[in-house]
Amino acid sequence: MHWFDYCAPKGLDEALDIFAEYGERARALAGGTDLVLFMERGKLKPELVVEVPSCSPFVGIETANNQIRIGSRTTMRELETSPVVREKLPILAEAAGKVGSLQVRNLATIGGNICTASPAGDTLPALLVLDASVKLVRKGGERVIPIKDFFVGPGETIRHPEELLSEVILPIPSGRFGWSFYKLSVRRYMDIAIVNAAALVIVDDDGGIIDARLAFGSVAPTPIRVVEAEERLKGNTLDETLLDEVARLAQAASRPITDQRGTAEYRRIMVYRLAKRVVKEAYERAIGQK
Ligand SMILES: Cc1cc2nc3c(=O)[nH]c(=O)nc-3n(C[C@H](O)[C@H](O)[C@H](O)COP(=O)(O)OP(=O)(O)OC[C@H]3O[C@@H](n4cnc5c(N)ncnc54)[C@H](O)[C@@H]3O)c2cc1C
Repeated sequence: MHWFDYCAPKGLDEALDIFAEYGERARALAGGTDLVLFMERGKLKPELVVEVPSCSPFVGIETANNQIRIGSRTTMRELETSPVVREKLPILAEAAGKVGSLQVRNLATIGGNICTASPAGDTLPALLVLDASVKLVRKGGERVIPIKDFFVGPGETIRHPEELLSEVILPIPSGRFGWSFYKLSVRRYMDIAIVNAAALVIVDDDGGIIDARLAFGSVAPTPIRVVEAEERLKGNTLDETLLDEVARLAQAASRPITDQRGTAEYRRIMVYRLAKRVVKEAYERAIGQK
């Protein structure tokens, strides 16, 4: 590994001063489960590694005004076990619980998962269907970006080098909602997804779908929302014909590649199957059949 300097700023302002000065010569370190590997492999060669401070706004899970704010340093284990996340955002607790091993989840953070921007990142489809936004802070400013607009390609985001991701903001789903998350991988634990899928469905008292959201990872250069399928679901009750149609729309929206984990063709078939599976499960949870 190359030589680099390390510093641990005590708070937000100090960290932002450092990033304003160093820009892309500096890299944030949270859990290090991606960064250290990337540095070992020579994929990233920062001059300065800057610890994300363990203080506000980077830590904590707080509820206010029908929203939950999650500090970017929150670990997968914290998400998986947090009573608030489990109750209000169960799909996120589920997805976080599917990352790596317990040891990895004790280190890996939500901010790191988002900023690595792997098309296969496990929390990303869940964050997409939850309509999450991310707050980016820099010296003298901040901006809040819907997560659907954050990713631009594998490992690429709209974050500027002098910006830090401080927190994730999630509206709490209301009404009769159901959710489903599925990670398809060769091994049950410690494996990257071949395909991951998330669905969130909100229904009225008669089981009519008021809102539907469907997202996939590992089937395109970025995690994707399948808007065409979502629109097709809205205003309907679910049956086999509609499920088939929705799954075909999801398949059409995917642009998978062949890699060591699976072929593009296999992924396309799995998008069809998983779309049916997660939409059906989310719907059944929403109408109280599950
Ligand atoms: C053995 C192993 C198994 C894994 N299994 C999975 C898995 O099953 N599913 C999965 O999705 N991932 C998996 N990963 C990848 C990794 O654990 C996750 O992506 C994790 O969430 C990264 O978080 P981190 O805190 O470790 O990030 P770090 O490694 O600290 O950082 C990752 C990147 O994000 C940047 N960054 C971090 N925080 C901020 C911030 N606040 N602002 C700006 N930039 C920031 C860093 O500079 C770096 O570029 C695995 C990794 C390992 C080593």
